[in-house]
Amino acid sequence: MNTHSLGTPTPQTYITTSAEQTQQLGRDLAKRVQAPRLVLLVGDLGAGKTTFAKGLIEGLGAARSDDVLSPTFSLIHEYEGNPKVYHIDLYRLDTLPQLDTLGLDDLWAENAVVLIEWGERFTAQLPGPRLEIRLEDRGGDERLISVVEPTI
Ligand code: ADP
Ligand code: MG
Repeated sequence: MNTHSLGTPTPQTYITTSAEQTQQLGRDLAKRVQAPRLVLLVGDLGAGKTTFAKGLIEGLGAARSDDVLSPTFSLIHEYEGNPKVYHIDLYRLDTLPQLDTLGLDDLWAENAVVLIEWGERFTAQLPGPRLEIRLEDRGGDERLISVVEPTI
């Protein structure tokens, strides 16, 4: 029996065996991402969130992958392109007041693609619908990557 009802997201899953493959998956999936869109990158440290973001941002035409650096310390990087891309890392953010100082509210009004690493820590404060990319380290260079499409 098919237990999926309409509106239930069915993840699509991929296995990659190198950082380059994960980047390529990001490039490929860029075709399915249109602004305005929030993309949550979910996974532990070293799972490959930034690696995936490099490919996705390149696939969107906003920057070359080599020019995409982790926003761990600067918290937010902005790439002028069509669409405009914001790449955010909330790992070092501890509290909601700190989140407010980032000025995310203004970003949602822009016609941009907003990529967020560690966004699940503040999920109630982030708007939907969103595309969620889950990355899991399966040992060695193997990563299991699930794409959960928006529910609306
Ligand atoms: P995160 O942003 O989730 O902390 P990064 O993308 O910064 O992770 O780092 C992932 C690390 O894992 C990189 O050093 C990368 O070279 C390595 N790696 C090995 N195999 C893979 C893979 N299949 N996909 C992504 N990264 C991989
Ligand atoms: Mg990262």
